[in-house]
Amino acid sequence: MKPGRRQFLLAAGLLPLVRPLRAAGERVVIVGGGWGGLSAASHLRRLAPDLDVVLVDRQPAFMSFALSNRWLVDPAASAMARHDYAGVAATWGYRFVQASVEGIDRAQRTVTTSSGRLPYDWLVLAPGIRENFAAWQLHDPQAVAELRQRHSGAMFSAADLPGLKKRLAGFKGGDLLMTIPPAPYRCPPAPYERAMLIAWWLKTQKIPGKLVIIDPNPLMPAFKSILLDRFKDQITYLDHAKVRQVDVARRTVTTDIDEIRFDEALLSPPQEAADLIWQAGLIRQDDSGRATGWAEQGELGFRSAADERVFIIGDAAGLASPLFGHYPKTGHVATRMGAIVARQIAARATGQRFPALLPESVCHVVSSVEPLEHLRIEASYRQRGDGFLMQQVKQTREPNPAGEDVAWAENMYRDFLRP
Ligand SMILES: Cc1cc2nc3c(=O)[nH]c(=O)nc-3n(C[C@H](O)[C@H](O)[C@H](O)COP(=O)(O)OP(=O)(O)OC[C@H]3O[C@@H](n4cnc5c(N)ncnc54)[C@H](O)[C@@H]3O)c2cc1C
Repeated sequence: MKPGRRQFLLAAGLLPLVRPLRAAGERVVIVGGGWGGLSAASHLRRLAPDLDVVLVDRQPAFMSFALSNRWLVDPAASAMARHDYAGVAATWGYRFVQASVEGIDRAQRTVTTSSGRLPYDWLVLAPGIRENFAAWQLHDPQAVAELRQRHSGAMFSAADLPGLKKRLAGFKGGDLLMTIPPAPYRCPPAPYERAMLIAWWLKTQKIPGKLVIIDPNPLMPAFKSILLDRFKDQITYLDHAKVRQVDVARRTVTTDIDEIRFDEALLSPPQEAADLIWQAGLIRQDDSGRATGWAEQGELGFRSAADERVFIIGDAAGLASPLFGHYPKTGHVATRMGAIVARQIAARATGQRFPALLPESVCHVVSSVEPLEHLRIEASYRQRGDGFLMQQVKQTREPNPAGEDVAWAENMYRDFLRP
C-alpha cells in the first residue's frame, strides 16, 4: 500500500476495515446460510483470515426471495437461481457443514448438530423465522404440514416458490385468498407487491377470479390507489382483519367477522424468530414477562444481551428501538448486520475495539406493471443523544425504471455469493 493511502486510512480510522486481522485459530460458527449468515461468513473471511469460519445450514443450497414476486406470474421473468453452499464456501474459503443445529450449550461454547458437536469461540445466529400456526389454532404437525404443502404463502422458505408458481398457473378462477401476517414480518412491502402483480395477471389473462386479501395491518399508502381503485374488479381487500382459524379440509378461513371460503390460497400466519432462538433461551420478554417472539438484542452491535460471545442477526433480531420498533426484516438489512458483526468479531478476536456501525435498508418494489413503475424505499438510522435509535424512511418513485432492482440484487450477491 502506498504511504499516502495508508496515512489517509489511519487518519480516517478505517485501517481495520481493509487490513486483514490476525487471530490465533479461534473458531466462529455461523448458524443459518441466508442473507445474514452468508454475509457474516464472507466478511469474516476477508477481515480475519486466521479465524476458522464454519457455516452450518440444514439446507444444501441458498435460494433468494428477491425479485420473486414478478417471477411468480410473468413467464418472461428469468429463472430463479439456486446456489449450492458447498460451492459458495469453496469460493470464499470457509467450511460448510450441512446439518441441523439442535441445541446450544453456551456454558461449554458448543453447538449440537445432527452430525455432531461443534465447539465455538464466537457464535453468530442467523436462523431466520418460523411461522406460528398455533395462532390459527393449528397445533397438529401433520395438519400444519398439509397446509404448507397445499396452500403455503411462500414467505418462510424460497424453496416454496416453485410450488406456489405451479399452483397459481393451475388457478382457473374463483376465490384466491391471501393472508398478510401481522407486523413485524419479513419484507414489509412484499405482500402488497405480490397482490398487485397477481391482480394484474388475473386481469391481463382474463382469469375469472378474485384475489381476497386479509390484512391485519394498515395498507401501505403507496399501494392504496392501485389495489383499491385500479384493480377494484380483481381485488377484495379486507382491512384490519385478523385470521382466527383455518380449516384446510373445508377450505375456509375464519376472521373476527367473517367465514371466508376459498378455491386456492396463499396462507401466511404470524411470524416469529426461528426455533433455535427459543431453544437457546434468547427470546425477549416484554414488561409483563410474555415472550415477544423475537430475540433479545443486546447493544447496537447485535451482540446478545445474555452472552457476549453470541451475536443474533437477520430476521430473527428483536426490537431495535422503542421509537420505531424493528429494523425492516429484509435481506439488505441482514447482509449489513452480517458485515457489522464480522467486523466486531474480527476486532475482538484480536483484542481490538471497533465502533458499532448501524445498518441501512434499500427495497425496490414494483408498484405498477402497466405503465411500469418502481418504488425505492430507503431507511437510514442514527443514534440520538439519549442513546435511542431513530429511523428515517424515504420513498422515491421511479417512473422509468431501468433495471435498478436487478442491479441492486447483483450487487448484494457479489458481497456474499460470488465476488
Ligand atoms: C416474497 C418475499 C420477497 C422478498 N424480497 C426481498 C427483497 O427484494 N429485498 C430484500 O432485501 N429482502 C427481501 N425479502 C426478505 C428476505 O428474504 C429476508 O429478510 C432474508 O431472507 C432474511 O435473511 P436471514 O439470514 O435472516 O434468514 P433466512 O434467509 O431465512 O436464512 C435462515 C437460514 O437458516 C437456516 N436454519 C434455520 N434454523 C436452522 C437450524 N436450527 N439449523 C441449521 N440451519 C438452520 C435455514 O435453513 C435458512 O437457510 C423478501 C421476502 C419475501 C418473503
